[in-house]
Amino acid sequence: MFSLQDQTILITGASAGIGAACARLLAQAGGRLILTARRTDRLEALAAELEQTPCHLLTLDVRDKAQVAEALGRLPAPWQTVDILINNAGLSRGMNKLQEGEVTDWDEMIDTNIKGLLYVTRAIVPGMVTRGRGHVVNLGSLAGHQTYPGGNVYCASKAAVRAISEGLKQDLLGTPIRVTSVDPGLVETDFSRVRFKGDEARAAKVYQGLTPLTAEDIAEVILYCVTRPAHMNINEILLMPTAQSGSTLVHRQY
Ligand code: NAP
Repeated sequence: MFSLQDQTILITGASAGIGAACARLLAQAGGRLILTARRTDRLEALAAELEQTPCHLLTLDVRDKAQVAEALGRLPAPWQTVDILINNAGLSRGMNKLQEGEVTDWDEMIDTNIKGLLYVTRAIVPGMVTRGRGHVVNLGSLAGHQTYPGGNVYCASKAAVRAISEGLKQDLLGTPIRVTSVDPGLVETDFSRVRFKGDEARAAKVYQGLTPLTAEDIAEVILYCVTRPAHMNINEILLMPTAQSGSTLVHRQY
């Protein structure tokens, strides 16, 4: 097992899916965790499960600029030195054609996936620069590389994450801070349930007839990225299930 002994790791969207899987795996690797999301009850359950791991829980809506600045600017003393930031909180809403899209869905995706990620990064990275130590991992997506029909604004939000990761890497040149974008294809989590607003049947269809990636697969990739030697930066990892070869190319067996 790679070691993250005593490193302080902040995960946004730790209440479910990829974020929760990262919490479990990075805890096993010895990390101390700042777990953030809106659903506090889920964070509490996760922290109880990780009983041997020091955890600090923060109820945080990454869309709320003032809340992010306040909560992350006033972390309790033992939690102020974040070594690894995992910008994972994100979602898709709807799959309408753009000309038929719901403006509130667009706002939610842009406010969470782009602006929320920026607010959290802005609050945490200056401390990393001052301390001369840190790693930012952004959850991008295959959707940020290839737009698919109905994906319009979600894909745009993940293309923005890709540009932000590239820009942050450039802006941190000359510091030891590392930046990685992890860009998965189909991962079975609550993602499609959220996208289709609780329509379980429609969500299940997304993964039917193929073996999707799991949240644990993505956590393993992230653990790999954050345990490389200090001179090595994994800029971007694009990964997908074997049964997928592009945003719209999926092989299903029924
Ligand atoms: P998920 O199971 O639905 O988890 C999403 C997480 O984001 C939840 O913990 C949720 O927590 C949090 N979140 C959403 N809005 C938030 C907000 N405003 N403030 C704070 N936290 C918020 O989905 P997932 O698949 O693990 O998604 C994690 C990331 O991976 C996302 O950025 C997603 O775009 C990306 N991704 C997923 C896939 C996939 O196929 N699943 C593929 C590529 C990329 P609360 O609701 O408790 O706040």
